[in-house]
Amino acid sequence: MAHANPAQFGAQLATLNNLQTEFDLLSQALEGHLRLAKRIRGDHPVFKVTKIPEKIYKKDQRTQDNDVLLSKLPADLAALVWKNLPTDADRVTLALTCKAHAETYEYLKMKKVNIMVNNVEKSVMFLPRPIRFAYNHRLQVLVRLPTWFPANYQLCYKCNQYIDNTHPSSQGTWEGDAREVRNFQADRQATIVGPRCRLCQIADNLNLVKETPEAKEYERKAKLVKQTF
Ligand SMILES: [Zn+2]
Repeated sequence: MAHANPAQFGAQLATLNNLQTEFDLLSQALEGHLRLAKRIRGDHPVFKVTKIPEKIYKKDQRTQDNDVLLSKLPADLAALVWKNLPTDADRVTLALTCKAHAETYEYLKMKKVNIMVNNVEKSVMFLPRPIRFAYNHRLQVLVRLPTWFPANYQLCYKCNQYIDNTHPSSQGTWEGDAREVRNFQADRQATIVGPRCRLCQIADNLNLVKETPEAKEYERKAKLVKQTF
């Protein structure tokens, strides 16, 4: 910048910085509207079979001092232990405790075995999988993970995700009580009595009007925001 007056330059930079701050605040507010529109519509993240990337569990794998049992069992016995855990969420939790377990989980998850059904040989997954995935399969995994998340993230039992409490759209008082959902409770009742984020409460309070043209218009505008930014 030739011949720039440092004071003028500084003033323009300050104006630009103010515009940036204003823009960021507006973006966050708009993001909050988009999140709310999704909750009014009842859109929640859905369960996907957990995948631990190979590049994570293959790298720097080492024996854990506290792993005295499972890794020392013969492979077929260890596989039975995995198979007999009550839910896929329990298997995921075990897989996350060490890289060797993660590798075993990823292997067993894809493993197929042949069984006889009515005298016909049928190929089925070795690990039991739910026939249909419901909302609570994801919640079953999430309730086991609070210690894995940074302290500012809190599980909302209603919208089925960890919420960053430092985001402006998330701030405010939560409803529900974590003491009501001890011991990994993740059923329909848990979504009613468990902790629920502020946006879920606002959406709940609009349950009577969620099918109206006004609600559709709000949703349409929110979608537009997503496309714009
Ligand atoms: Zn929520």
